[in-house]
Amino acid sequence: MKILGIETSCDETAIAIIEAKSSRIEVLSNAISSQVKLHAKFGGVVPNLAAREHAKNIGHVFKTALADAETDIDGIGLISVTRGPGLAPALLTGLTFARTLAWKYDKPIVGVNHLDGHIHSNWLMPIGVKTQNSKLKIQNFGDKIFPALNLIVSGGHTELVLMQDHGKYKIIGETLDDAVGEAFDKVARLLGLGYPGGPQIARLAEQFALNNAGSIRINADTIIKFPRPMIKSKDFNFSYSGLKTSVLYKVRELKENKTKLTDSVVNEICYEFQKAAIEVLVQKTLKAAAQFKTKAVLLSGGVSANKYLREELSKNCAKAGIRYFQPAMEYTGDNATMIACAGYFRYAQIPTTSRNKFSWKSIKMDANLSLS
Ligand code: AMP
Ligand code: MG
Repeated sequence: MKILGIETSCDETAIAIIEAKSSRIEVLSNAISSQVKLHAKFGGVVPNLAAREHAKNIGHVFKTALADAETDIDGIGLISVTRGPGLAPALLTGLTFARTLAWKYDKPIVGVNHLDGHIHSNWLMPIGVKTQNSKLKIQNFGDKIFPALNLIVSGGHTELVLMQDHGKYKIIGETLDDAVGEAFDKVARLLGLGYPGGPQIARLAEQFALNNAGSIRINADTIIKFPRPMIKSKDFNFSYSGLKTSVLYKVRELKENKTKLTDSVVNEICYEFQKAAIEVLVQKTLKAAAQFKTKAVLLSGGVSANKYLREELSKNCAKAGIRYFQPAMEYTGDNATMIACAGYFRYAQIPTTSRNKFSWKSIKMDANLSLS
């Protein structure tokens, strides 16, 4: 069965086609039109501007997705669209497009949660990759991974989600203020590194690590130190706004002491900030996995592109004897393959006789949609 996914919750207009085979999911196309450059000058995403761009680009992205997958709308068995959470005007554009397609071509349609999408980026087989080269992917649906623990980290979310099965979720921890990706973006902004800041900070942190490899300043003795917020708290919540403020105070202090923010000082700030942010994520995830006796840890969301986070989580899960999965790099950011995949699992769980409820009439947007 081929599934068409549509995602417009933020600043990516994305349409993709996947094919669900008996034991694995293959990606046939993954078309994305990004508005990052447009919003960069505002330092963040402007909702109405995002909606206008989605409306302008969605027809073209749709055609590209069909052409890349070498199929047409008749070959599509299900439409899956993000119905929340996200920016209301942006969500509405994709939802209206999806409902119109479902109505015009008489296709079943399912509305999915954007975070359910991120979780399912772990099930995707990248274009051109063969099973044996993809050991880290969950491909065999019989894999014993439940209960699993999801760490979802993005520009809008930092969540620990217990997963008993597809669609059965319980949020056990979340950020009390800023999301971790948001903290990366805000710290980058105050260091003048541009938007989105995550990749820039990661790059400069890596530079610092490379330049100081073997030096005592790595690990033991960075001159600049930041706190690890809530690392010892008994719950599984996070807080990133204080860490961002600590960076702000450090930058102010350095300037007052007439210390120049040279490249090497900026790199060190990025290194220590990234280390602090990620140490908390990894420790809390491992603690939750032990407490809830989960069989696997699944990473996802835009920040899951961070190499240091991937390495640390992988290393620590291996040490604790827990299976660990991470999405292929191309599915870490917002995309529609993951939306198609989440929709497929929801559809597959419903008995064939009840599938008439997957109608364009019953899909509604919910900008604050929750996972559990
Ligand atoms: P999303 O909200 O899922 O679209 O993800 C976007 C967020 O991921 C933004 O806050 C980015 O700064 C962040 N991000 C992307 N790549 C990285 C990276 N390599 N390291 C840290 N954060 C990242
Ligand atoms: Mg996202």
